[in-house]
Amino acid sequence: MKDREYYHILTKKLKYPAGNFINGSYMSAQSGETLATINPATNKVLTTIAASNEFDVNAAVANAREVFNSGVWSELHPSKRKSILLHFSHLIRENLEELAVLESLDSGKPIADCLNVDVPETANCIAWHGEAQDKLYDQISPSGNDALGMIVREPIGVVGAVLPWNFPLLMTAWKLGPALATGNSVVVKPSEMTSLSTLRLAELALEAGIPPGVFNVVTGTGAAVGSALGLHHDVDAISFTGSTATGRRFLEYSAQSNMKRVVLETGGKSPCVVFEDADLDRVAEHLACSFLGNMGQTCTANTRLIVHNSCKEALLSRLKVECDKWKIGDPLDPQTRLGPLVSKEHLSKVTSLIQKGRDEGAEVIFGGDLAVDTGYFLSPIIFDNVNSNMTVSREEIFGPVLSVLSFDTEEQAISLANDTEYGLAASLFTNDLTRTHRLSRKIQAGTVSVNCYSEGDISTPFGGYKLSGFGGKDNGVDAHDQYSEKKTIWIDLSS
Ligand code: NAD
Repeated sequence: MKDREYYHILTKKLKYPAGNFINGSYMSAQSGETLATINPATNKVLTTIAASNEFDVNAAVANAREVFNSGVWSELHPSKRKSILLHFSHLIRENLEELAVLESLDSGKPIADCLNVDVPETANCIAWHGEAQDKLYDQISPSGNDALGMIVREPIGVVGAVLPWNFPLLMTAWKLGPALATGNSVVVKPSEMTSLSTLRLAELALEAGIPPGVFNVVTGTGAAVGSALGLHHDVDAISFTGSTATGRRFLEYSAQSNMKRVVLETGGKSPCVVFEDADLDRVAEHLACSFLGNMGQTCTANTRLIVHNSCKEALLSRLKVECDKWKIGDPLDPQTRLGPLVSKEHLSKVTSLIQKGRDEGAEVIFGGDLAVDTGYFLSPIIFDNVNSNMTVSREEIFGPVLSVLSFDTEEQAISLANDTEYGLAASLFTNDLTRTHRLSRKIQAGTVSVNCYSEGDISTPFGGYKLSGFGGKDNGVDAHDQYSEKKTIWIDLSS
C-alpha cells in the first residue's frame, strides 16, 4: 500500500509547468509577469504561473485560428481523431500518479480522490468523446423527391474554455473532450489558483499527436484573461464553468463583442429530500459524501437536507456518525478524506457565511470548529432549525456546511426543494416507486438522483435549471452541440 511518505517523495520529482502553453510550447507572459500558486495545505508557494493579459490571449487565439483554418485537426478523418484522442486518454492514465500529485498539491484535494476519481475520469471523458465522434451521423430532411435537405455538423471554430478551481482536470476534460472530438481548436483559461494540471495535460495532448495550437492554455486572472477571451472577436464560443456572478459577465461580453455562443455551468444549492420510508443508513452515507466530498466545494453538493419530521432525529444521529469517519489532514495521505479549502480568501468567505448562520439563529448540531492546521482547513458543520429565508439556506457556501430543514407533507417537501434560485441537482430518497416518478419530475433541477447522490455519468447530459446554467449541456453526446454548428445544405432536384 502506497502511503503518505510515498506521495511526498513524488512531489520532489515533479517538474512544474513553465508559462503559457501556446502552439505546442511553453512561453512566458508577454509582460513577463507571474502569479504565485499556493499549496492550500501549507500556505506555501508551490511555483509561479504566467500572469497573462489580452496580448497573450490574442496570441493564443490567433494561433488557434490559424491551426483551425489549416484543417490539420478540424478536417482530419474522424477515425484518425479518434485514435489520437484514445492515445491522449492512455497517456493520462500512464501519468496517473504525477497528475494526481500535481492536482492534490495545487488544489488541496485528497490524493485518494485524485487517484481514484479526478484523473481516471479525465481519461475516461477524453476517450468517451473520442470514441463517440466517429459514430454520429448527420441528417437528411424529409423534404420529398424534389429537394435534398442535408443537415450537417461543422466544428464551430475557436472555443474558449474558462474554468473553476474545484475540479481543475475534470472540468477541463468536460470541455476539451467534446470540443476536440468535434474538430475545434481550444484556448483554455484555468483558474489562476489551479492551473498546473491543465498545463501538464496540454503537454500530454501534444505528445499524443494533437497538433500544436489545437489546445492552448493561457493562465492568469479572470479580470485579465477571462474577460479578454469573453470579449474576443475571433472566439466563436465560450464554455464556462464557475460562479453564477461570473457566468452573467460572459453573457455581457458576448453581447458587447461578436455574439459568440455562450454555455454556462454555474452555481448550485442542491436539496436532498428524504422520506420516512428511505433506507436511512444509505441516506447518511450518500449525504456525507455529497456535502463533504471535495470539502464541500462541489457544485452539485446536497447542501440542504429536507427531511420528513418523523425520521429527522434518526437520520441526523446516523449522519453525525458518518461525518466522524471523514478524517481531516494532509491531502497527500491516502487516508485523508478532507483536505483544506482552496484558498485563504475562500476560507474566510465560508467562515463568514457560517457566522451569518449563527447570527440568524440556525443551531449548530455538529462541528463548528475553525481551522485545525497550518493551511486552510475547516471541519464539517451541520446547522439545524434552518428556515428557507436564512442565508445558509439560500446562498451557495461552497464549503462542508449542511443546512437541515424539515417537512410533514409531500407538497411542503417539493416547495422547499424548489425554493431556491438555483437548479443544478437534487437527490430524492424514498422506496415508493410512484412517489419517485411523481416527484423526480416536479423537482426543478438538471439532474435528480434517486436513492443516491450522483451526477449521472459521462453518457448523461449535465447542466442546470434556473441560475445554475445557460445555453447547453456538458457530457453525453449533447455536449457536442455546444461545439458544433448545424448547417443546412439544400439541393434542388426538381429539374
Ligand atoms: P469563478 O466564477 O470565480 O471563476 C471561474 C473562472 O472564471 C476562473 O477561471 C476565473 O478566473 C474566471 N473569472 C473570474 N472573474 C472573471 C471575470 N470578471 N471575467 C472573466 N473571467 C472571470 O468560480 P470559481 O470560484 O473558480 O468556482 C466555483 C464556482 O464554480 C461555484 O459557484 C460552483 O458552483 C461553480 N461550479 C459549477 C459547476 C457546474 O458544472 N455547474 C462545476 C464546478 C463548479
